Amino acid sequence: MAHQHTTADTGDGSGDDRHGLLFIVSAPSGAGKTTLCDAMVVRFPDMIQSVSHTTRHPRQGEVEGVDYFFTDADTFRAGIQAGRWLEWARVHDHYYGTSADFVEEKRRQGTDVLLNIDVQGAKQVFARFPDSIGIFIMPPSMAELKKRLQSRGKDDPGAIERRLAVASQEMALKDHYHHVILNDDLETAIHDLAGIIRRYRRP
Ligand code: 5GP
Repeated sequence: MAHQHTTADTGDGSGDDRHGLLFIVSAPSGAGKTTLCDAMVVRFPDMIQSVSHTTRHPRQGEVEGVDYFFTDADTFRAGIQAGRWLEWARVHDHYYGTSADFVEEKRRQGTDVLLNIDVQGAKQVFARFPDSIGIFIMPPSMAELKKRLQSRGKDDPGAIERRLAVASQEMALKDHYHHVILNDDLETAIHDLAGIIRRYRRP
């Protein structure tokens, strides 16, 4: 494995083990993951969040290259054939993927990378990079999750029901992650997530 990294640098003699860490944050949609990840990039300005590629349409206010790279299914599938994705998944009927080149280049440069990806993608990354650090964010309850999805007004009722069904399947996989955070109170969750990330990072 080319990208092994030991958190405690014990000095294996190579002296150049400065690969960036790989943090994976997953959560059901509506659990506040995007807000939490954005807060981490502000707290740790030298860490970078990977911008995913997706075939879903932009939501109001989303910006190409900032929130996502928006693409079409043919281009995405060509990327699968070409091995362009570090991981990819179909979530809510759309493709989502992380650029392998982007993540590998950043890590090679010693930059820590944060991935905001779903459970299927996380599983692929854990298998490929056993040294990656997985953090799962739990919403306080299904009722609260439903309320959040409704109040953000981004999805119609059918889409909300589908997201809730997917959410319970995703929550069943939380034990595959190294850490689980409850996002009951946003400030507490930001504090908890920052604490975990800080623990792994080099001073
Ligand atoms: P949304 O459409 O609400 O932005 O995201 C839906 C889900 O797709 C979220 O769980 C999000 O974490 C996940 N997702 C976003 N980008 C990626 C990606 O590159 N790979 C995978 N596997 N999931 C992603």
